[in-house]
Amino acid sequence: MTPPTMQAEHDAFARRFDGQVVRPGDRDYDLARTVWNANVDHRPALIARCRTADEAAAALLHARETGLEVGVRGGGHNYAGTAVPDGGLTIDLTPMAHAVVDPGARRVRCGGGTRQADLDAATQRHGLAVTGGTISHTGVGGLTLGGGMGWLTHRCGLAIDNLVAAQVVLADGRLVRAAPDEHPDLFWALTGGGGNFGVVTEFEFRLHRVGPAMHLGLLFWELDRAGPALRVARDVSDGLTRDAGALIVALNAPPAPFVPAEYHFRPGIALLVGGFAGPRAHADLLARARDELPPLFEFVTELPYTAVQSMLDEAAPYGVVHAYNKALFLDELADGAIDVLASALPARTSPLSVVPIFPLGGAFADVDDDATAFGGRRSSRYAVNMDAIAPDAAGMAADRAWVRSLWRELRPFATDTGSYVNFMTDPEPERVRASYGLRKYERLAAIKAEYDPDNLLHHNANIVPARR
Ligand code: FAD
Repeated sequence: MTPPTMQAEHDAFARRFDGQVVRPGDRDYDLARTVWNANVDHRPALIARCRTADEAAAALLHARETGLEVGVRGGGHNYAGTAVPDGGLTIDLTPMAHAVVDPGARRVRCGGGTRQADLDAATQRHGLAVTGGTISHTGVGGLTLGGGMGWLTHRCGLAIDNLVAAQVVLADGRLVRAAPDEHPDLFWALTGGGGNFGVVTEFEFRLHRVGPAMHLGLLFWELDRAGPALRVARDVSDGLTRDAGALIVALNAPPAPFVPAEYHFRPGIALLVGGFAGPRAHADLLARARDELPPLFEFVTELPYTAVQSMLDEAAPYGVVHAYNKALFLDELADGAIDVLASALPARTSPLSVVPIFPLGGAFADVDDDATAFGGRRSSRYAVNMDAIAPDAAGMAADRAWVRSLWRELRPFATDTGSYVNFMTDPEPERVRASYGLRKYERLAAIKAEYDPDNLLHHNANIVPARR
């Protein structure tokens, strides 16, 4: 319940704010506070839907003046629901969803609330793309600020490796441009430091020639061959050329048209290979895997890049599944780690729970570790994301225990850099620090002290401002 004195201040803000304010009791309220993870049932006092940087600045200043906790909403995909602070103020950027392509310069400028699907649609009209996530309703904002990995990581690096500039509303309400030659420290902090440094109202990315068609190969092995299947998937991933990307997923086969009916819901391991180098190179890659270990079924086809970008959407529907996750980086998918995974997977209870493993390397590994704030680039070759997902909270809680136990068992094989900050339902301070490593964390904390000394933007994987 908002105290009556605050109520008057919020009323005054709602009257002078140019954008839309959504509050408890309003018709849109429940929709506006819904995020991807249905386990998050937060009730912000105010949701300020911002169309412009000025509106974002006004909302930020209102939060500062009234002491309201602030959350910034891009696509609402954060597992912890950081976009919607309970009793706080959400700066909702969903109206900022433009994506303007300059095909000649191979650049795109997109609003801070753009979804992956909208960015891909705009860039693919010109046969161009930038690295994005594997679910098309994810926000470009949160995804990019944490790093951003997907089908193009191997070919083009992370999303941040392609970031050229950003328009940022700072905690004091100023609007600045951050780029390698303008506020370079702020720009660096945005390349992996998350939503700690300001509200990004516009991102500018470098684009690459991609598609419009690409080749997809999905090989699926049943769970009792998880060990050998993971080894084959690893060998294929380790041997990828720059013109291919892969994803290894422990999952139940979806009831999709490309899965034979008798295998719907069958638990197992899928190796997905996205090929950009034409049919022959793609077929060779798949043949290697198929010859080593014949799959239970496979699906090999040519598809538009945008179709591949959205093909996993149904496995992660928005606002209806309860989810919890933990993740870590591995410097290799060692046999020991594979054995742990293979013996733990049968204990998963919810058919929706998944373990996506993102092979890194290629263009990702070309980038110097110090070039971006992203932690652990030097030694990370696999990001392992353990997801408990269920239709209800009880089902999720059962697999949450499973995720925590699997994570503990995999820890001995992990690099010591914590996790990918975008895969953290519990962004505990020591895990966030470990994710950057002490040296980078201290550099980020010093930049935070400069741009947000009062830690107004702390509802995130928080970097605490250094003491001055
Ligand atoms: P939001 O919840 O809206 O935002 C998360 C946080 O980001 C906010 O609290 C805020 O701190 C910050 N933020 C967002 N936008 C802005 C902005 N414009 N300015 C300032 N701060 C901002 N990650 C990958 O890299 N690759 C994947 O393939 C991938 N797949 C995923 C699949 C699923 C089903 C889910 C749930 C997550 C996945 N993620 C993936 C993780 C994803 O990158 C993070 O959840 C990310 O936080 C989502 O960003 P968002 O804008 O949608 O989230």
